[in-house]
This record gives sequence, structure tokens and C-alpha cells, in this order.
Amino acid sequence: MVIPVQCENCNRAFEVSDDMAGQRIKCACGQILQVADSSAVMDFLSQEMELRNDPLLAETPADWAKATGAPPEVAERIEKKMATKLHSNAGFMMALTGGILAIMLLLGLIAFLMSPR
Ligand SMILES: [Zn+2]
Repeated sequence: MVIPVQCENCNRAFEVSDDMAGQRIKCACGQILQVADSSAVMDFLSQEMELRNDPLLAETPADWAKATGAPPEVAERIEKKMATKLHSNAGFMMALTGGILAIMLLLGLIAFLMSPR
């Protein structure tokens, strides 16, 4: 039996043999990961099964597709759409932050130039 481990830092997924249960391993990114013991693994697996059986509880489009039996291409398309949306939001936030910084710098400069000497 293997134990699934996911790195909380870089999200890499591993499978380690169950004689590593309860021990610590080091991820390729340097993060130390605790390998769950068998009872925790069983909990995890049963939760996973529930996730797969209930489309409303699916956390990713891939899980959702598994739960609903939708073709994987549909899940992929949803995932891509979500990714582009996230990217454009991030771009917008960057532009907004940059704009605010520029205005603050400008105001600071004006205040400096107007201040009595
Ligand atoms: Zn990692």
C-alpha cells in the first residue's frame, strides 16, 4: 500500500510506501513533510471517495468531472477558463497597485515642492 503525500509548499504530489507512515520526508523544494499514519490515510481516502461521489463538493474541475462522469476535455476547458480569469485578475490588481503607487509618488512630490523652505 502507498500513502499519498502532497507538499503544502509547491503542491507536488508523492506516493510513499506505508513503512514511511508517521515519518518526515523532504520535498524537492526543501519543505519537510509529515507522512500521515495509516489511520489518517484511511480518513483521507474516505474523504476523497466522498468528494468523488458528490459533484457539489468537488474542489477542482477534474474532481467534478470524475464525480459527474463528464468527459475530461470539459474539465480541462473549465480549468483553463479559471486559470485565465485568475491571471487577468492578477494583472488588474498589479495595474491598480502600480497606479496607486504612481499617484502617491506624484502627491508626495507636489507636497515636497509646495512645502515652504
Ligand atoms: Zn514541495
